[in-house]
Amino acid sequence: MKHIIILGDGMADWPVKSLGDKTLLQYAKTPYMDMLARMGRNGRLQTVAEGFHPGSEVANLSVLGYNLPKVYEGRGALEAASIGIDLKPGEMAMRCNLICVEGEILKNHSSGHITTEEADVLIQYLQEKLGSDRVTFHTGVSYRHLLVIKGGNKQLDCTPPHDVPLHPFRPLLVKPLTPEAKETADLINELILKSQDLLKDHPLNLKRIAEGKDPANSIWPWSPGYRPKMETLSDTFPQIKSGSVISAVDLIRGIGYYAGLHRLDVEGATGLYDTNYENKVAAALEALKTDDFVYLHIEASDEAGHEGDVALKLKTIENLDSRAVGPIYEAVKDWKEPVAIAVLPDHPTPCELRTHTSDPIPFLIWYPGITSDSVQTYDEVAACEGDYGVLKGDEFMKEFMHSNQ
Ligand SMILES: [Zn+2]
Repeated sequence: MKHIIILGDGMADWPVKSLGDKTLLQYAKTPYMDMLARMGRNGRLQTVAEGFHPGSEVANLSVLGYNLPKVYEGRGALEAASIGIDLKPGEMAMRCNLICVEGEILKNHSSGHITTEEADVLIQYLQEKLGSDRVTFHTGVSYRHLLVIKGGNKQLDCTPPHDVPLHPFRPLLVKPLTPEAKETADLINELILKSQDLLKDHPLNLKRIAEGKDPANSIWPWSPGYRPKMETLSDTFPQIKSGSVISAVDLIRGIGYYAGLHRLDVEGATGLYDTNYENKVAAALEALKTDDFVYLHIEASDEAGHEGDVALKLKTIENLDSRAVGPIYEAVKDWKEPVAIAVLPDHPTPCELRTHTSDPIPFLIWYPGITSDSVQTYDEVAACEGDYGVLKGDEFMKEFMHSNQ
């Protein structure tokens, strides 16, 4: 049996008053997901282990069955893999945002969502001026870049910049958690302040200001870590001889790299509402012909949740149903080698809250011949009655991968 996980990032939500106290999954028209829930088995999964923040990297690692305390090394290390940086022993990677500061205030974490092309000019400039044998800057995507420090000590207290818009930045500079980490903290803080000196008069920023855009006038490194000690999925699940991940998001592609999955590039995969569902589905079906396992990640609902836009999020859920789950089910239902399908989000992103929560998420598993439970629809409430109950750790992945027994 082959296996595909279809993940709608941040799709779970809370009951919404304007929807008659239904959740978005309850309210949205999702005939395919409801059918698979009805024909398959359901449950809930605790994707955020105790002591961890409900980030997408944390939740997606959990979905894939990884033991977070053992493997978690922060975002930088995952994103490094995504952009092809092979971290060596002793190298510490950090997510390095290009942020906008105004005087003493951290105005925003994204420099007004600067384009990758513009950001690349600034990151290369920083590399030229601040790079050394020890310190390297690498361009990522939009405002999300990478700082690698040889011999860096990761025992640092760093602040995610999206958590502190409009706060004074100086009290939020990096603090060492141990005396040994002081040298690393000092180095990073020095780089932050030097970057501000270098970037404030950069022609590209002057042009942005003239156009009424936020300048990208400071770096903000956070989430430090080393190369994760992750087993590949094939090591853990020998029936996965070959697998693929399809995602527009660096973090998920990075997880895929360490999990030993092929990372498929899909034209028009944007990580937003306008993502090319048809191309992603085509890539997933093509991969399933030769692979045993496909992880299809679609970011759109999470973005809508962060915007607090209920109507838009409903649309992304209905798109996932009609343009991903439906076509995949219709394509594989009669394959000679049966395909197991799982549908789930990584974590809730309630529109009301506009950020992630750690609540357990609803999942469904279907494959030809599965014994169904009593659940009739796919949503947060119905999943509570599912036969799987509430799973945690690697229990979901184990259930899914043994679904041919
Ligand atoms: Zn997520």
